Amino acid sequence: MTSFSHTDWKTILRNSAETPEEIASALNLDAEALESVTSRYPARINPYYMDLIKKHGLPLFLQAVPRKEELEDLPWLLPDGLCEEIQSPVPGLFHRYPDRVILAVSSECALFCRHCMRKRDLGKKNIFDKKAALAYLEKHPEIKDVILSGGDPLMLSDAGLDDLLSALRRIPHVETLRIHTRMPCTLPYRITPELVKMLRSHAPLFVNTHFNHPSEITEESIKACGLLVDAGIPVGCQSVLLKGVNDDKNILTSLFRKLMSIRVRPYYLHHPDPVAGILPFRMDVQKGLEIYRSIRGHVSGMAVPPYMIDLPGGGGKVGLHPDIFCAMDGNGWIRVASFEGKIYDYPALARPTGPPLSR
Ligand SMILES: *Cc1c(COP(=O)(O)O)cnc(C)c1O
Ligand code: SF4
Repeated sequence: MTSFSHTDWKTILRNSAETPEEIASALNLDAEALESVTSRYPARINPYYMDLIKKHGLPLFLQAVPRKEELEDLPWLLPDGLCEEIQSPVPGLFHRYPDRVILAVSSECALFCRHCMRKRDLGKKNIFDKKAALAYLEKHPEIKDVILSGGDPLMLSDAGLDDLLSALRRIPHVETLRIHTRMPCTLPYRITPELVKMLRSHAPLFVNTHFNHPSEITEESIKACGLLVDAGIPVGCQSVLLKGVNDDKNILTSLFRKLMSIRVRPYYLHHPDPVAGILPFRMDVQKGLEIYRSIRGHVSGMAVPPYMIDLPGGGGKVGLHPDIFCAMDGNGWIRVASFEGKIYDYPALARPTGPPLSR
């Protein structure tokens, strides 16, 4: 059980550790060492997740506590390496695929994950223009699926979220809604019966959450996921393969099995994206494929999600299959075809030794 007596998510969130001093004193660290990182990328660890870190140590610590290695830059790891801004016709709306868009409706989260692929925007103000986004969606009948992301969309109030979902529901061609939130993992008290009832009223609506380690599946998070699933809201999980956190056959197997046991379907296992700030979590694709191969087929197919890379330059997500051999060039890049059949170079080594070689 947790060490705080109240379970109101806003109260818990207000007591988050954010400054180097607060984080250092909670975990017995050197504040000065944290300072250089937090001045570039914000930090936030709420008391619920802080308790989990104290209980379970490194795999959770690494996801939440700033490390100076985040500051290491490589010329081909850009803040917006996936080129979301180029594919953003209005602020906070990313339109990469023909039939679906992402709305980054918030730049706040209950925990700022050190491995976040949208690190460039965390904590920033006014990243989303609701009016312009709704107008764009109305003009684009090809868009059938709208994903609320961020940041974490559940940082909005229930009323704010209800307004937005209602406005989306008034657009006839929008068929499905998705909420991409880490709250069931990082602050499960956010999932209240009132929230669930409101979400349920906007069906068909899917929730995709984000667990990376079996020790994140607690009594509280089981309850949060149970509330959603019991209400008829399908819940999936996007995990990220993270060096030092879950880059291990047994940990991932346990994670996927535990998710299935709480009726959360593993949706994607992401290779860490080629963006600035997350280099300490990246491993070679070859290593990722080896781990993936040791699970695929050995564990129920229902529990094993596709292993995905997201192409730099906005090419989109591509599933990697362990049985297909990708030849690397001398600098550590592989050539991959996108869903549109266009060819992209992907950094298959965590640290390529140079730019992609032309072939
Ligand atoms: C990942 C992503 C989506 C959703 O892709 P699915 O494979 O349908 O989950 C949509 N838009 C963008 C820009 C994305 O990066
Ligand atoms: S909860 Fe999601 S958006 Fe927020 S920091 Fe973590 S990965 Fe990024």
